[in-house]
Amino acid sequence: MEQHNTATENASASADAASTSPVIIPRAEHGISRANISRNALKVLYRLKEAGYRACLVGGGVRDLLLGREPKDFDVATDAHPEEVNRLFRNCRLVGRRFRLAHVRFGREIIEVATFRAPHDNGDDDTGSEENGDALVEDGRLIRDNVYGTIEQDAWRRDFTVNALYYDIADFSVVDYAGGMEDLRQGVLRLIGDPEVRLREDPVRMLRAVRFAAKLGFRVDPTCEAAIPRMAGLLAEVAPARLFDEAIKLFHGGYGVQTFEMLRRYDLFRYLFPGTEEALSHEENNFPITFVANALKSTDERIDEGKGVNPAFLYAVMLWEPVRRLADNLMESGTPWLPALQQAGGAVLSEQAAHIAIPKRFGLPMREIWEMQPRFDQRRGGRALRLLGHPRFRAAYDFYCLRAASGEALEEGCEWWTRIQEVSADEQRRMVSAGDGAGDSPGGRRRRRRPRRRKSDSGG
Ligand code: ATP
Ligand code: MG
Repeated sequence: MEQHNTATENASASADAASTSPVIIPRAEHGISRANISRNALKVLYRLKEAGYRACLVGGGVRDLLLGREPKDFDVATDAHPEEVNRLFRNCRLVGRRFRLAHVRFGREIIEVATFRAPHDNGDDDTGSEENGDALVEDGRLIRDNVYGTIEQDAWRRDFTVNALYYDIADFSVVDYAGGMEDLRQGVLRLIGDPEVRLREDPVRMLRAVRFAAKLGFRVDPTCEAAIPRMAGLLAEVAPARLFDEAIKLFHGGYGVQTFEMLRRYDLFRYLFPGTEEALSHEENNFPITFVANALKSTDERIDEGKGVNPAFLYAVMLWEPVRRLADNLMESGTPWLPALQQAGGAVLSEQAAHIAIPKRFGLPMREIWEMQPRFDQRRGGRALRLLGHPRFRAAYDFYCLRAASGEALEEGCEWWTRIQEVSADEQRRMVSAGDGAGDSPGGRRRRRRPRRRKSDSGG
């Protein structure tokens, strides 16, 4: 009994010794204004505070506000336990299996409220939103493994110093344990602690480093940068479903072009799309690279304009080069174009699924986009009109025009398909019967040509 007490006292004494006091940046010395914080996040923060809890904004919200950027979302960290948060808000739902989180919903906006937690194991994906929060037992095991901690422990377990800043609603100060303010000023992404240990703990942090560096225009701290080539192989062990989520964040975050370039520079792209990397590394005439980059440029523009983007289109783009090559080989040995594309699509998709899971609902539209491509080369007769009516026409047409802009399909084909969508039904019939509609037969092999500069290659 005595001994037990002593051991406990020693443990807490050493924890105390290890704790450091944070740098506190008072309201007057930083640029975060409540006017730029979502009203709903403020409501959550104030209600927690009024109930006697500590409540802070944390993560990307604080980082982006300090940089004068508009945050994607606002995450709250608190010392209230999820059940306590749940009692405070009617519009609250507990989610997450590995770690319970509270989601407070206001119409379309969800404020995620996480309890401060202690570092205790690896893999630190705290989104948890797609998990079924109601399941408490799986395979007979209790799967709730919450380890709550102090705000300081919560800070140290985060990934980058600039992601570990807290905006405290009690006095509107910024609380900085890990040196994030200085790194923010310097534009550096620095992992908290030993980079090698932190990357081994969760290899996805390499992808996060690239994502944030591309988005914020930051550089990756040299010791982290040096660890990446040694740790990159660990990405092969990350669950394909998690890589699917991560890939969407990488390429649908509005900075796809820079992200793609940086992933290739760090040689990380191969762990996401090995077949594509293989094809890109054997580029001919400047080709494949421009197709993926052109598509990402168009995606970035669409996101900037507030237009929707579709994961099926993104994956169809990423895997097109391997599909096209395999289909070409099959056609060379006599397979007709449609079965060649079907077989190639199936083979590439199942090979890719070992690396990044592609949900079934995306696989089908991807294959349709691929298999429709040769039909755009045929611009005569009822077939062309039927193609216009295909439910996947728009995506396949955008895809075709991106191929044209990248020198792989015919520019005049793209122009023709653009025009036929704009004219009357009578004129459409005239177009498909006139000589100007003549195109290659589907699947006809074309010589790759140097891309012409287009005024806009947004693909429509
Ligand atoms: P974004 O602008 O993309 O939302 P973010 O920094 O908010 O950027 P999130 O993925 O929303 O990123 O995560 C919120 C916070 O949770 C991060 O800022 C970081 O502090 C912490 N975090 C997220 N993923 C990890 C991880 N893999 N390892 C350690 N900490 C993480
Ligand atoms: Mg976030």
